Amino acid sequence: MLSIDRVYVRTMTDIPESHPRYRSLMTREMLVRGVKDGIASMQGLIAQGRGEAFDYLLGEKTTESAMRAEKAAVALMMLAKRPVISVNGNAAALSAAELCELSRELNAPLEVNLFHRTEDRVARIVSLLRSKGCQIVYGDRPDRLIPGISHERARATSAGIYGADVVLVPLEDGDRCEALVKMGKKAIAIDLNPLSRTARAATITIVDNIVRAVPNMVALAKEMKGMPPSELGAIAEKFNNDMALAQALDEMMKNVMKARRNV
Ligand code: ATP
Repeated sequence: MLSIDRVYVRTMTDIPESHPRYRSLMTREMLVRGVKDGIASMQGLIAQGRGEAFDYLLGEKTTESAMRAEKAAVALMMLAKRPVISVNGNAAALSAAELCELSRELNAPLEVNLFHRTEDRVARIVSLLRSKGCQIVYGDRPDRLIPGISHERARATSAGIYGADVVLVPLEDGDRCEALVKMGKKAIAIDLNPLSRTARAATITIVDNIVRAVPNMVALAKEMKGMPPSELGAIAEKFNNDMALAQALDEMMKNVMKARRNV
């Protein structure tokens, strides 16, 4: 569910809640606002557009398969010694408060990592996340480089992503996801495109919109608190990423075929 406070909404385009595409349009508004506030980049708007297209095919809902991936992801993060959540501009614009809640529930610090990095944008995102109650936010003083990446996303912090064993990478690009896995880390992607390089490289891919996935993960983390490690291990072990990607594609095909029959 989107957490949109009414005052904030009133400052944006007036979209009635009865509009059939209300949630999708509100997500766009949040991202446009993120660009205006110097949180998200212009390129982020295009990435969101690609995500929306896949979400449309998915039926704009969390599928059973995505929910299983979310559960396996939470189990893996609960079992991790040093879980970290990577945050880029779009993730911050759409889910800052929810990512902070997840960080608290899973004891996983956040690290800001930007493709189109400027120190100003990093500082704005760090300060947004702190304003949502996050104690530990890395990313403004990176001290290491992830091997095999030549662009700005290589920057990482020893105490954060660089030293992590499990990294949640919402809305990632394929290069960095592959590089993190090559370093021996487990990567959990949130990506609406089951065909992307990220989706294929990740240990667990959640094919769901970040605005649904993160609140689901917060709820699961609360539910699963106190679960014995053996049970968490069994949940994580049972997950098969190739199968989950195939199920996401099947769901999209099913929706396309259903629409096709009605044309
Ligand atoms: P790759 O390098 O992995 O092949 P890409 O080059 O398409 O992917 P980007 O342009 O960085 O990657 O886009 C980020 C990804 O995030 C896209 O695959 C897009 O489908 C996905 N995405 C965009 N918005 C959302 C969202 N709100 N929730 C989940 N996924 C999203």
